[in-house]
Amino acid sequence: MKPGTKFIHAGVAPDPSTGAIMTPIFQTSTYVQDGPGVHKGYEYARTQNPTRDALQKALAAIENGSHGISFGSGMAATDAVMKLLKPGDEVLATNDLYGGSYRIFTKIYEPLGIRFKFIDMSDAATISQHLSSQTRMIWIETPTNPLLKIIDIAACAEIAAAHKALLVVDNTFASPYLQNPLDLGADIVVHSATKYLGGHSDVVHGAVIVKDEALAQQLYFIQNSCGAVPGPQDCFLVLRGIKTLHVRMQRHCENGAAIAQFLRNHSKVDKVYWPGFADHPNHAIAATQMRNFGGMISFTLKDDRLEAANRVLSNTHLFSLAESLGGVESLIGHPASMTHASIPREERLRNGLADSLIRLSVGIEDADDLIDDLDKAIE
Ligand SMILES: *Cc1c(COP(=O)(O)O)cnc(C)c1O
Repeated sequence: MKPGTKFIHAGVAPDPSTGAIMTPIFQTSTYVQDGPGVHKGYEYARTQNPTRDALQKALAAIENGSHGISFGSGMAATDAVMKLLKPGDEVLATNDLYGGSYRIFTKIYEPLGIRFKFIDMSDAATISQHLSSQTRMIWIETPTNPLLKIIDIAACAEIAAAHKALLVVDNTFASPYLQNPLDLGADIVVHSATKYLGGHSDVVHGAVIVKDEALAQQLYFIQNSCGAVPGPQDCFLVLRGIKTLHVRMQRHCENGAAIAQFLRNHSKVDKVYWPGFADHPNHAIAATQMRNFGGMISFTLKDDRLEAANRVLSNTHLFSLAESLGGVESLIGHPASMTHASIPREERLRNGLADSLIRLSVGIEDADDLIDDLDKAIE
């Protein structure tokens, strides 16, 4: 089945009791049993919910996995994956990482005895030098946030497999429309469905997708035991969002390309980070592992003072100043004071994340209006 058809039909079957074409929101906490232990597959709603089931099937299908496991947020999904580890285990993670992931790793899991090493993985070969006998997991994001670096998923998968470590890919930035890490050898895909999957800035949700049965059962056990489950209304919203993912992503990509070009030609703009440029250091890998280049762009100004960036950040009208990404409306953000404020400044600068860096989540409005808005704010 081609992606567009899959995004619309995956997981959803007409409701057997009414024929409702869209899976209803099963707002219930428990299910009546016909006799002790005799039930229809549903006992208690932390454990099972039909709206969540439909979404989980859809998530598995769109990432070419066998199981999707949903959570109350992207961080809850990340938390569940970390619970696969035990004290003494080591994780190699990319150094250009979502701020919240860095925070949970260093502030929650490091004190519990898991060790983390944050390294630049732009050249996957460098990973091998950092492996130890304790390395159990390699955690990557690609494209990275906010510098849009590209990491070679297939190369990482090979290294992880040879070391019997799990490769986890946070696929939030690319979305399953642009990239399917499980097909490239990854073991686990994580999503903040709050972003492109939901797509309308109206829900917080997370997902883990795997292809291995034993891993799936471990994650279902964690989902049920720890209980960071999403409500049925949120599952419904994500399920609805997925149905238009391919159409939205096509426009995100077109607009992203137009705006990246515009910024690159602008006399006041210094660097533009976007993997679609032929001279992006890992463009060739992006072109192989992604279907297109997406709508996430970061840039710096030639005037590198914070005030210059602040002027742009507070003078756009269509681009709203806000955290998050992946919705239909365009957003503008300042990683150093917003999404990445939880990473110490020296650590940020060491990783190339300038104080003046501006990040765009290009929405699906008309590109001309977006360009006009940015042009006026930069001028
Ligand atoms: C937003 C985000 C998360 C966290 O997801 P929440 O839904 O906000 O908990 C994790 N990874 C990436 C790349 C994100 O952008």
